Amino acid sequence: MTPPESDVDVLIIGAGPAGLMLATWLSRLNIRTRIVDKRSTKIMAGQADGFQCRTLEILDSFGIDRVWKESNHMLEVCFWNPDENGVIKRTGRVPDTPQGFSRFTECVLHQGRMERFFLDHLKDDGDTVRVERAILPSSLQINEEKVEDAAAYPITIRLQHLTDEEATPDQGKNIPNGLFRSNLTPDDTEDLIRKASGKEGTEEVVRAKYLVGCDGAHSWTRKQLGFQMEGEHTEIIWGVLDIIPITDFPDIRVRSLIHSASSGSLMVIPREKRVVRLYIQLKEVSEGGGAIDRSKVTPEQILKAAQKIIAPYKLEYEHCGWFTAYQIAQRVSDGFDKFERVFLAGDAVHTHSPKAGQGQNVSLQDSYNLGWKIGLVARGQATREILKTYPTERQQIARDLIAFDQKFSKLFSGRPAKDVSDETGISLEEFRKVFHQGAVFAAGLSVDYGPNILVVKEDEGKIGGVRCKPSLAEKLKIGMRLPSHKVVNQSDSLPVELQKLLPSDGRFRLIVFPGNISKPKLYTRYEKLGEYFSSSTGLVSAYTPEDTPRDSVIEILTVHSAKRLDVELQSLPEAFHPLDKARGWDYWKIYADDESYHEGHGRVYENFGIDRDEGCIVIVRPDGYVATVVAVDNTNSLEAYFARFMIKV
Ligand code: FAD
Repeated sequence: MTPPESDVDVLIIGAGPAGLMLATWLSRLNIRTRIVDKRSTKIMAGQADGFQCRTLEILDSFGIDRVWKESNHMLEVCFWNPDENGVIKRTGRVPDTPQGFSRFTECVLHQGRMERFFLDHLKDDGDTVRVERAILPSSLQINEEKVEDAAAYPITIRLQHLTDEEATPDQGKNIPNGLFRSNLTPDDTEDLIRKASGKEGTEEVVRAKYLVGCDGAHSWTRKQLGFQMEGEHTEIIWGVLDIIPITDFPDIRVRSLIHSASSGSLMVIPREKRVVRLYIQLKEVSEGGGAIDRSKVTPEQILKAAQKIIAPYKLEYEHCGWFTAYQIAQRVSDGFDKFERVFLAGDAVHTHSPKAGQGQNVSLQDSYNLGWKIGLVARGQATREILKTYPTERQQIARDLIAFDQKFSKLFSGRPAKDVSDETGISLEEFRKVFHQGAVFAAGLSVDYGPNILVVKEDEGKIGGVRCKPSLAEKLKIGMRLPSHKVVNQSDSLPVELQKLLPSDGRFRLIVFPGNISKPKLYTRYEKLGEYFSSSTGLVSAYTPEDTPRDSVIEILTVHSAKRLDVELQSLPEAFHPLDKARGWDYWKIYADDESYHEGHGRVYENFGIDRDEGCIVIVRPDGYVATVVAVDNTNSLEAYFARFMIKV
């Protein structure tokens, strides 16, 4: 029987964090999308739990605040090291997330809850994209002749439908162990394909414009593309226990890094619902002297190792929710895409130690980077050129991640130095230094995308180019995410975080900082800019279809530096607070950098290094990263920027 055929704009393989984030973007942008997963259920226990600042900012930009509300917030880190007698002692306390990094701090919640929130969100967001379970691909073809044709469906993929039984992995009978998800288990994909093939009605053929492999560490998609994972596989085995501990160890409810004199290291992660996660270095070796078989490790063995490290404190438990044992492989794929048609994201392209709490975060951020780009191209708003920025932007992050992880893991697995003359041991100072340096990276806030078609960091200085002027906002980093500070709504005095004005909805934003518009000269300049934005030959008209709201492609926001009370909203140019017959005036686009009644002063001009008289325009990408900075009156540069990749209506 010929299998049924259909087409779709984007097919996502894998509904872990990376796949669900991508599905959320594409659902938001109304792109015809399917997402399939070989498993019959989402993850039930274990795996990732740490959520970093940038991830929380991103989730918030989709209106998903349940992680922040339900999680345990980790605010402090304690260091424990052996004293001169080899007994562990608290040697330092620092904030877990350094002050001023973000509106959020690191928090901890079971990965399965986050997957649940994504699924609920997809349902609420129109219910057009649903995870289709017990389905996996068995063949992939790409028609190379059609890859440059934006309207074509050059990908042909055969999908196999499994029975529920085939798709349900053993998650452990009494205590779920972590060996069922792809990054810890041996790969069972080939087995499942074999089981399903040949059965009547179990196959279908899908033609897609884009295919994204979010299928985890054993990625079937990556293998079809012929990419290799490059890097190291270490011999050190780590055990993980999710338990409700009974202990007299005083820092069990803060993140604690414990280095024992000779029994290895342990990390304490205090979690939601009284649970604590322990990462424990297992020092046991097999009879032959090599690494033990991690699939045979029991929770009792892991506990015993933990008890040795944490002694003289006692550690027991009655309740264990999940456990696992893993080895660290620090690897990056040598390719992230093929023909800008098939992409890979998440564990499919990078694997590393889980202790630094990065995998899920970076995986989500991969597909956060990719989703809007595919979305804008699939909608016909942007050229395929922007898709090239996905591998260049994210491959570098993956390499940085591995470098960070190698440093962090080595420090964590290493033996503590006995004294200053002990050169092979790790000194406490060294550990603290790397830990602190790593904090910005770990929070996801050091991401700095290099110059490309979407990011202009220097003045192009030629006719028709973008006259980028970084000095106009000298503390703002082009290529990095726009930091948040409070601004005050001109219409109703409500203080609001700047990032709250940047929801993830696929729009570029021009944030106009016109300076003190109560000064006539600056007001006149602002008024002229408004005329340009309203004109039928200006930037907004060029890219906005007539039958959609004026702000549906490029949104213009204003943050002025005049006293709010010196400005009347209705006397400001309409372009900045447009009137729509059905929706009324837009009262949510003009803000003052001024004192609020109850929540202080955000000092955005000062924090971004913007002169209150000169001002500037900041272009922000749909993912909240700063694209470039230009002068307030330089509308030519705005046009030059968007002409690089946007398609006129
Ligand atoms: P996965 O979560 O592996 O999802 C892949 C999905 O694809 C799965 O649902 C799978 O069923 C499906 N799939 C696989 N192959 C196929 C196929 N052929 N066809 C169809 N579907 C397929 N990260 C953090 O950020 N913070 C932490 O604190 C943290 N702690 C961790 C602790 C442990 C013990 C472990 C093991 C990991 C931890 N991680 C952590 C890492 C994190 O779990 C992963 O990096 C993250 O799950 C990767 O997401 P992903 O979507 O790329 O892949």
